[in-house]
Amino acid sequence: MTLLAQETGAINLAQGFPDYDPPQELLEALARHALTPGHHQYAPMPGLPRLRAAIAAQVARLHADAPAPDPATEITVAAGATEALYAVLAAVVRPGDEVVVFEPAYDLYGPAIRLQGGVPRYVRLPAPHFRPDWDAVRRVVSPRTRLVLINTPHNPSGAIFTADDWHELARLLAGTDALVLSDEVYEHLVFDGAPRMSARQHPELRERSFVLSSFGKTYHATGWKVGYCIAPPALTAEVRRVHQFLTFAVSTPTQHALADVLEADTTDAHARGLAPFYQAKRDQFRSLLAGAGWELLPVPGGYFQLARYGAFASTGDLAFAGFLAREKGVAVVPVSAFYHDGFDDGLIRFCFAKEEATLQAAAKRLIY
Ligand code: PMP
Ligand code: GLN
Repeated sequence: MTLLAQETGAINLAQGFPDYDPPQELLEALARHALTPGHHQYAPMPGLPRLRAAIAAQVARLHADAPAPDPATEITVAAGATEALYAVLAAVVRPGDEVVVFEPAYDLYGPAIRLQGGVPRYVRLPAPHFRPDWDAVRRVVSPRTRLVLINTPHNPSGAIFTADDWHELARLLAGTDALVLSDEVYEHLVFDGAPRMSARQHPELRERSFVLSSFGKTYHATGWKVGYCIAPPALTAEVRRVHQFLTFAVSTPTQHALADVLEADTTDAHARGLAPFYQAKRDQFRSLLAGAGWELLPVPGGYFQLARYGAFASTGDLAFAGFLAREKGVAVVPVSAFYHDGFDDGLIRFCFAKEEATLQAAAKRLIY
């Protein structure tokens, strides 16, 4: 869809990335380290110690009810959450192992599981709230279940795992040796005062979870490709065995720059500011489209708005997305792209991580 946006000149609300830059202090830190001799060779395999220490300190403050992760044995810096996801899957999934995946699902989960010889077991999250049906989950969990893949806040729906969901998951996995991969790249984008909740904050789940985050999302820097994985020492050791031979290490000056801003932000002002920042964008985009015929689904978190377009067309979502890009000049993602079987529920996804002017220009084209 990004290619189609480039070809047609459409406003790109398809791929998830901000059209604004990272905070000035982060850019200045990167420039400083780029100009500093001695910061241009391989970083240590698990990540710069000072960046891991800064991550541990922030996570300890934000997850005050959980023990702080040990930067030496529990945190691994990866080339984006993408690499961390792949490293975890390659570390734990063996041929024939089953992995529970909720759909709609971020596009890499299914293929990366299958590349390990694993078998995705899909559980559908129903619109408009995309909440798990725990009876349906129970039906796919078996002794062959190696891993349950969670994504909260969820791409594309924005749905958030509640304390009850975590509790159900913990109950379901008690007494098994199944692991949890919790993709929390949108961890700070939780709206309307909902509590932030990570797999790390649940004592029984923490022991069996890989928790992922992404500086791409947190610092409006998707092109930097830096993320990390937090997991107990034995699980971290396995992830590092793959990471060592996948990318080995992550860009050194970039890690120094991130460490500078994290160390300086002792009150987590940046991370805490993301929820109000994105909630305002959500509200602005929704009010721009209000009353125009789009059925806007609830957005509890993340930076995507799902919409039903049934008032405008009865075509499939892929055809409708093509029409919007070519005829209306706005690129979006058809939500069928998030299902292994192409399930089409008549929904499209807008990314609202955009400047106010971009959202206004797009909305003008979408009101017809
Ligand atoms: N997981 C989800 C749910 C995402 O939306 C993204 C970003 N596209 C990623 C993982 C990948 O994150 P990164 O850009 O840090 O590789
Ligand atoms: N996570 C982003 C999205 O969902 C895109 C990342 C990618 O294009 N691979 O749009």
